[in-house]
Amino acid sequence: MIPKLSKDFYAYRENLTYGNKDFTYLRPYYVYMTNHFGNLAYMSCSSDCNINDKMVKNHLHFNKHKLKLIDSLVEETELKDNLFRNVALDYLLKVRDTEENNQIFIRVFRALSGNNRHMEEINDTYEGIKNIQPNKRIPNVELTNFNGEQISLQQIAKNKKAVFYFWSSTDKRHFSDISKRVLHLSKQKPEYTFIGINIRTDVDEWKGLVETAGLDNTNQYKAENFEDLNKALIIYPMNKCIITDDAVIVDAFANMYYSF
Ligand SMILES: [Zn+2]
Repeated sequence: MIPKLSKDFYAYRENLTYGNKDFTYLRPYYVYMTNHFGNLAYMSCSSDCNINDKMVKNHLHFNKHKLKLIDSLVEETELKDNLFRNVALDYLLKVRDTEENNQIFIRVFRALSGNNRHMEEINDTYEGIKNIQPNKRIPNVELTNFNGEQISLQQIAKNKKAVFYFWSSTDKRHFSDISKRVLHLSKQKPEYTFIGINIRTDVDEWKGLVETAGLDNTNQYKAENFEDLNKALIIYPMNKCIITDDAVIVDAFANMYYSF
């Protein structure tokens, strides 16, 4: 709901600058701008667009609208690219819209900002999400098992119901929580095999942490290249997990804490 505000509440907006290069990487300014465009889009969608009984539930519309506002107001090109990127990653990663809507969004995005300096990252994210939709085969990333052997994700996921989760030694609290969750779920849901994929940890530390946590090391793997893994599986947020049935994706954006 939009509260009733005095007429001059937003009067300062007349003095906002959208074209000062020195502000582009000034954090409070940038954070303000991302919120500002969220607010502008929300207000104009609620009053002018009249979608879904004036509630902004249509994420595709809302985010397209935001892109258009940024396009029409922001003059500084680097700031514009950064704000566009922010909308794209926010929409693609957080809304988790249908494949069809994502495609419409990316078309609009490319039309408005095809030469965006972050285009490669945005394309990778878009393609990555497209490739892990339900009923598609899980991407065939190579991982390393506890014996140091290379094995592909499709091979690991074969002939079983699997749940892949992710962890890194850089966040010990997350690892401690998720290990407990895995031990609990393994008992509660014996029909699934819970498979840990470690990122960004050296081999000795990885093995030590797995042993200490009491996890079954036959279900532990390590990714050698985080960038490739992230492009293929879109590891966001960190508590997400991927549920597969015989290497076919059931849900690539499930959550270790809410999905079971
Ligand atoms: Zn709108």
